[in-house]
Amino acid sequence: MKFFEDLMESSAKVADKVAKVTGEYIDKGKEKINELSLENELGKAQKQLGALVYALHKSGEENDELVKQYIEDIAKIEAQLEEARKEDAEETVTPEVVKFCSKCGREAGADDAFCKNCGNNLK
Ligand SMILES: [Zn+2]
Repeated sequence: MKFFEDLMESSAKVADKVAKVTGEYIDKGKEKINELSLENELGKAQKQLGALVYALHKSGEENDELVKQYIEDIAKIEAQLEEARKEDAEETVTPEVVKFCSKCGREAGADDAFCKNCGNNLK
């Protein structure tokens, strides 16, 4: 069962990393956290889960506990990523509205050639 022991070990590492990332997030407070590193972690965890499911399937074994653990880890990372993206979106400055569509009255940006709402030509 060496293979599964290794998997258990790497899963524990993922959990450690999640805890670490969470800690960093709290430390940085409102600062933007690195989405890329979270995306990286997410990709790695998903890959590991895929490898695990594949290995289990291939050997005809079942290990729901371990699969569940991976899924929980992935869900945690996803939640953090979603939070990070939300913060970024809030920080994004809304472009200044400089004109309105003559047809439907919707706000449009200075460089918009067409109305996003009705498609009216704004030029
Ligand atoms: Zn319009």
